[in-house]
Amino acid sequence: MSTSPTITLSFPEPDVALLTFDMPDKGVNILSASVLDELETHLDELDGRDELAGLVINSGKPGTFIAGADVREFVAGLDGSDEMAVQSSRRGQLLFARLSSTAYVTVAAVDGVCLGGGAELALWCDRRVLSDNPGTQIGQPEVKLGLLPGWGGTVRIPRIVGLGNAVEIITVGDGLSAADACQMGLVDDVTSLEQLLPAAIAMIREQQQTEVYLADREQRRLPLVMNETELGFLGVTASAMIQQQSGGHYPAPQVMLNLVLETAGCDEQQALEKEAEAVAGLFGSEVNRALLNIFFLQDRVKKYRGVSDDELTAQPIESAGVIGAGIMGSGIAAANVKRGIAVTVTDNSREALAAGARMILKEASYNKQIRSEDVKRALDLSPLIQLADDTSDYAPCQLVIEAIIERADIKQPLLNELDQVLPAESVLASNTSTIPISQLAEGLQHPERFCGIHFFNPVRQMKLVEVIRGEKTSDQTVLTAVQYVKQLGKLPVVINDGPGFLVNRLLFPYLNEAIQVVLEGASLRAVDKAARRFGMPMGPITLYDVVGIDTAVLAGQTMTTAFPDRAENIPLLEEMAEQKRLGQKTGAGFYQYRPGKKRGLDDPQVETLLAKHRSGDRSFEPDELVARMMVPMVVEATRALADGIVRDVQDLDLAMILGIGFPPFLGGPLFWADSLGPEKLAAMLEPLAELGPRYEITPLLADVLAGKRTFYDG
Ligand code: NAD
Repeated sequence: MSTSPTITLSFPEPDVALLTFDMPDKGVNILSASVLDELETHLDELDGRDELAGLVINSGKPGTFIAGADVREFVAGLDGSDEMAVQSSRRGQLLFARLSSTAYVTVAAVDGVCLGGGAELALWCDRRVLSDNPGTQIGQPEVKLGLLPGWGGTVRIPRIVGLGNAVEIITVGDGLSAADACQMGLVDDVTSLEQLLPAAIAMIREQQQTEVYLADREQRRLPLVMNETELGFLGVTASAMIQQQSGGHYPAPQVMLNLVLETAGCDEQQALEKEAEAVAGLFGSEVNRALLNIFFLQDRVKKYRGVSDDELTAQPIESAGVIGAGIMGSGIAAANVKRGIAVTVTDNSREALAAGARMILKEASYNKQIRSEDVKRALDLSPLIQLADDTSDYAPCQLVIEAIIERADIKQPLLNELDQVLPAESVLASNTSTIPISQLAEGLQHPERFCGIHFFNPVRQMKLVEVIRGEKTSDQTVLTAVQYVKQLGKLPVVINDGPGFLVNRLLFPYLNEAIQVVLEGASLRAVDKAARRFGMPMGPITLYDVVGIDTAVLAGQTMTTAFPDRAENIPLLEEMAEQKRLGQKTGAGFYQYRPGKKRGLDDPQVETLLAKHRSGDRSFEPDELVARMMVPMVVEATRALADGIVRDVQDLDLAMILGIGFPPFLGGPLFWADSLGPEKLAAMLEPLAELGPRYEITPLLADVLAGKRTFYDG
């Protein structure tokens, strides 16, 4: 670790100091304890200078101001006392508060991400100017870790932009663009990167003359002016919104709301003390631990190259091809265009291609984070609506993804044709959701350049992409695919080949079991409700309607062939597919859908169908339903680990959270199982073991139940 300082002091003008953050050996600036010490030393030194008109704080790293506090230091203190948490909050508060009581004007000049503790530092300055770079954003994402901004954020923000705006900023946690932040009044000006420092210095000169900043300082030390009715109204509406969004599973937003409602009536000093106490209440909770786990899992995946050979390198992809312009193909093509990658798209249906092209253009034009010139250039270079009769049109593409119908007999000839026309160094990939990559590779001349690049639906929203290594896939291909997925702004998890890969392999036991309990007598609504109460974003029955019953049947067949001991075709689903009750896309599946509506209504015809297939009529308690659906997923997870499908439990948990929305506050299926502990896990699992291999206690589970290891600590 370098011992060079992070902060350097310079003087762009004789009476203007500049503190520049540039953490050695790091891509971004973060606020560790030692960086806070450095800041303190600099502020002490500046206090001793009489002639100073102002201080500007900026970053020496392009694209990052300060990304936040050092999360690793949080984790090191997780098991500490409440008093330690209070002290750590007070340390940041007292230090940053100095920026609003100096004898000179303080200005933050921000380019790039300015989040968490970094945003609080900027907010304690008298003024803020942001660059107009698309990547510049300011925000308080602590809520995403189950925490609250504890270095004065909950006190400063309401006093700068009002309580209503503050509640949204801190309880939602999304970053604001420079323009939005300026419109709200959170920052004072937006300018080009080149003008950032001159603009900050100009602000100092102006404030020196007008002394408005002194009046602002005074006012921000006082309670907020709000009447009881306004406070009451905000409390009720914000609380209802929080309840709806968090489902009652995440305590931090409600804690923050209560806190700011209370501290609105306090002076700054009292408000800060209450903020520090509230930090201690959230820090180290189960939810906080689970969300920190996810933070690290994501961080790890972002750094992972997918191969152990450090010598290998991958070129960025500049031109891609997508075959099949359906739901997935058009989503994948749009993701390319959004990142400035030219993309050739085709489909054997003229109508599908036209619809896909419309969707791609719509998506590409709705894009805040990306420079519009890049999108325009990529679109200009993309022969979007060419029906490629001839696959040789794809020869110039560095990477081609097949996203046509889920049938190996149709995919294979197409892949063979592409294999003939693509240069040997190009990557060929399939977006198949279940068919093993090694099976699709049979007959290819260059199986080493073939892999799975499995996106999730809807591509726009889903960050996870499984990169699947077939038996013959080369390291170079895996590396290129991993880099390409990152280029698209998504998170690649590298998976070894196998039916359903990872996410669908674990999803199917859960979905299957949902049908089994319905056939034993549970109601569709009860099953969906139990899953949602557990924290899933939607119930499994609704999920069938979203995915499509036909797709579920086709994918189910792959799983049944692969795992006949524990998966079986479900005649109820087959009959629904025959009747074209395919789910939302046909207006009726397990539920009925009115045109343009996503909410399913009860359908009496389904009850008739169910009556025909049901084998029982017993009722279930919600906890039993949860156990029935979740245990098969956990059991299958242990099998996937034993089969070497996934690198480790961490990647498995992350993939399930990002791929199917397994509740983040539970940290992933195996983090959840660990947090239950062996006794509770056994109480849930053992009574079900008699139901067959779906509930089998695998060797890994047996070790966990016997207390010999945990999933995470083995
Ligand atoms: P889709 O039916 O919406 O689109 C498939 C498109 O491929 C259609 O437009 C069809 O006209 C076209 N097509 C069929 N055969 C073709 C051929 N020989 N040449 C060119 N075009 C052809 O299907 P989708 O949902 O986009 O699925 C595509 C692939 O992605 C499948 O392998 C599927 O398993 C996988 N997938 C789907 C999802 C999902 O949720 N829908 C998620 C992940 C992966």
